Amino acid sequence: MLEKMETVDVDELIEEFETITKDAERIQRETLRKILEENASAEYLQNLGLNGRTDPESFKSCVPLVTHEDLQPYIQRIIDGDISPILTGKPITTISRSSGTTQGKPKFLPFNDELMETTLQIFRTSYAFRNREFPIGKGKALQFIYGSKQSKTKGGLNAGTATTNVYRSSTFKAEMKAMQSQCCSPDEVIFGPDFHQSLYCHLLCGLIFREEIQLVFSTFAHSLVHAFRTFELVWEELCDDIREGVLSSRITVPSIRAAMSKILKPNPELADLIHKKCSGLSNWYGLIPELFPNAKYLSGIMTGSMEHYLKKLRHYAGDLPLMSADYGSSEGWIGANVNPSLPPELATFAVLPNIGYFEFIPQRLGNLESQVLCIEPKPVGLTEVKVGEEYEIIVTNVAGLYRYRLGDVVKVMGFHNSTPELKFICRRNLLLTINIDKNTEKDLQLSVDEAAQLLAEEKQEVVDFTSHVDLSTDPGHYVIFWEVSGEVNDEVLKECCNCLDRSFVDAGYVSARKVNAIGPLELRVVLKGTFQQILDHYLGLGAALSQFKTPRCVGPTNKTVLQILCNNIGKSYFSTAYG
Ligand code: AMP
Repeated sequence: MLEKMETVDVDELIEEFETITKDAERIQRETLRKILEENASAEYLQNLGLNGRTDPESFKSCVPLVTHEDLQPYIQRIIDGDISPILTGKPITTISRSSGTTQGKPKFLPFNDELMETTLQIFRTSYAFRNREFPIGKGKALQFIYGSKQSKTKGGLNAGTATTNVYRSSTFKAEMKAMQSQCCSPDEVIFGPDFHQSLYCHLLCGLIFREEIQLVFSTFAHSLVHAFRTFELVWEELCDDIREGVLSSRITVPSIRAAMSKILKPNPELADLIHKKCSGLSNWYGLIPELFPNAKYLSGIMTGSMEHYLKKLRHYAGDLPLMSADYGSSEGWIGANVNPSLPPELATFAVLPNIGYFEFIPQRLGNLESQVLCIEPKPVGLTEVKVGEEYEIIVTNVAGLYRYRLGDVVKVMGFHNSTPELKFICRRNLLLTINIDKNTEKDLQLSVDEAAQLLAEEKQEVVDFTSHVDLSTDPGHYVIFWEVSGEVNDEVLKECCNCLDRSFVDAGYVSARKVNAIGPLELRVVLKGTFQQILDHYLGLGAALSQFKTPRCVGPTNKTVLQILCNNIGKSYFSTAYG
């Protein structure tokens, strides 16, 4: 049906969304019923004694909360080729490899047509709301998307990153066309075996089709910034390729060369125009609208750990609006950004009540209860959450995950009809902690933002950052790794180090620092290109650039990344903020 669809009916989609969100509680019950009925024969559910019951109360009393680790033995059997109904009624034929950038190693998750359909539903919904406010015309999208290596598991199942599984699907392509967001690069570029070569060709295709480009997209904002940082380095070579109509010798993959030769023709006027435009820019400010005069906006996930890249992205984007994309994971999508005109810092995600069954563990209550009673707090339902409260999100999806702890903390900012609008806060288990201190990914981000202002006064920026708890010293201390754009003198960096230390305002941290139960924070400035090495390391492990997220905390078990960081230390400073 999708192949036949020419364009998406924006009004109808918005109407549909309004209808399901007005009746979120009933739709949640129905969705749960459907999931449990369709998968009633799954061994996992059979063993839990539901006996055909599909109501939320029975579900919650019979089915335990689980983590990925708990499900690993079941998933492993699927990977190994056991086609009996294990987690789902119908056998799973595709496996998603999650990026693994937050945990250090990739996770394997079931993927199926139903999950694909929920993905498309999220894309359609946010597109409809976006297009109502920022309509795009007929044309193409410059999409920095990359397929990861697809492999076969021992049992013969296809395995790729979730984004690769989505990009490969024919329904996805038809849908993108219907949304006027067809990628301007050929498939050979998207699915090429070398990310650097694919990126170069994405840029080249973007320039060739520059007049037609309606929007610029990547899954995560990091890839957008990475793409235009690369453009700064290769732009003259790109111009040469366009002038001569001959692809750079850096592209060695035969299938990419063949596909690009059909697109690339000598065009000296275009080459001169791009050359002139780039030469006229001041420090690349406003590069994107200069290159793509008909682009209406930039889109991608810009929240959470991506917020760090917003400053650079705004620099490249000039006046073009930034549209923060939706909220989801390899485990399934959760919410759509239905208020696209809000800046990414304020973006929220309205949960689609028919794409999964969602529960929420209150965090405030959680801390209190778990401290006093040492018990796991009780999750509440989608429509029972309270505005202003933070929750850990629990997902039951259409691909065999039941009451699965995703590991994300979200805050309820309001309601769209009766479904909550969530703000992504942080990964739950990304904690910098030594004793009584607890600092999350968000706390780290705030602290880095504060200290980076001192760098901004020197016209420098933090290219990327991560952290580590160093327990090899007594007392242990926080280590923050920074890659800085240019030369900065020692005095400024010393001050940045003090500022980082002072900006962790968690009461536990401050009191432990005051009595030296936590040692002075250490700022290690790493050499240029260190974070590129980390990215390359993950790509080598099979991660896709599309899904890459710099790990914001590197634990002791993530030895290779720690090694890369420690091998590249340029300078290091210890804080004197606490005397
Ligand atoms: P992956 O495991 O690669 O599928 O990544 C999924 C994770 O990325 C989620 O669990 C979140 O932690 C993060 N993520 C996804 N969407 C967003 C978003 N819109 N804002 C912030 N973080 C997000």
